[in-house]
Amino acid sequence: MPKLHDQHNRTIDYLRMSITDHCNLKCQYCVPFDGRPKLPMADILTYEELFAVARAAVAAGVTKIRLTGGEPLMRKNVLEFCRMLATLPEITDLALTTNGILLESMAADLKAAGVKRVNVSLDTLVPGRYAAITGKDALERVLRGIQKAADVGLTPIKINMVPMRGINDDEIVAMARWTLTVPYDVRFIELMPTSGWARQKHDRLFISIDDVQKQVETIGDLETIAHIHTRGPATYARLPNARGRIGFIAALSHHFCKTCNRLRLTADGKLRACLFADEEIDIRGPLRQGASQETLQHIIQATAAAKPKGHTLNEADAKPISGRIMQAIGG
Ligand code: SAM
Repeated sequence: MPKLHDQHNRTIDYLRMSITDHCNLKCQYCVPFDGRPKLPMADILTYEELFAVARAAVAAGVTKIRLTGGEPLMRKNVLEFCRMLATLPEITDLALTTNGILLESMAADLKAAGVKRVNVSLDTLVPGRYAAITGKDALERVLRGIQKAADVGLTPIKINMVPMRGINDDEIVAMARWTLTVPYDVRFIELMPTSGWARQKHDRLFISIDDVQKQVETIGDLETIAHIHTRGPATYARLPNARGRIGFIAALSHHFCKTCNRLRLTADGKLRACLFADEEIDIRGPLRQGASQETLQHIIQATAAAKPKGHTLNEADAKPISGRIMQAIGG
């Protein structure tokens, strides 16, 4: 199996593919002020094009693919695309990040299509607050979706929560306690100053992972799970006798660029080596001009090679992500 490396000695084996910029929620901290620009349909990569990128990425050394968005389950025929990806034997981990709105009805089919596991974004367990944050009164539906995903074996299930001061920080303890009774990994993710509200109010809303951890430690002694620390952004711990784990993702305060192993593909066919660097490499153009798999592979290798050493978001003069929003890039 070939290995894909960057210039900073990191192995790149993970591709996050945003397959749509449409979403069925309007999370306050995710949508930009000027509404939600929708990419013209013609700009969005077709499944055949996405598959060609996936195949080339796998040939270059990628073994993990995650579908994201926007809301990936909103894209028509997403199951068919999952089945296509599952035919690539080199992919050892095919996963999906979702808000869970459509999970109850789709979980069994996703599992049958070859998806191994799901991450579900959930910032609160209080129904009215869920509606306030996301614009939709759908907490019960999401919880049923998570349960269904667990029932059909889309596991381990990871629940991603972005704690925000004065919005949902009073639920950090409750979220962590949830792991005592459910076998899910509850992960706390620092709010990033991406654009719109999240950027404008960042100073006021931001809670560092160190502060989150202090709150979680009031429940009981945390046992750190060291072996999971090696790859990926989260450090994991467990409360005594808990069924699930707790993950801490300090995207900003202790950024984990040193171990970053990922590339991103935007819904309109641009490769990004870093979520927070504006550099994008167009792969849609070459795809539509009939580029061979080898050429696509070279483009992917060049993107990996140009991966910056680290993001600079926590520096005072950091720029927002210009012209892009999380829905198009995929978070
Ligand atoms: N619709 C899917 C979902 O809700 O999981 C996938 C796309 S969503 C953009 C991916 C993740 O980005 C979500 O977990 C969301 O919480 C996170 N996200 C969006 N804006 C963020 C911000 N400013 N800081 C931290 N996380 C953010």
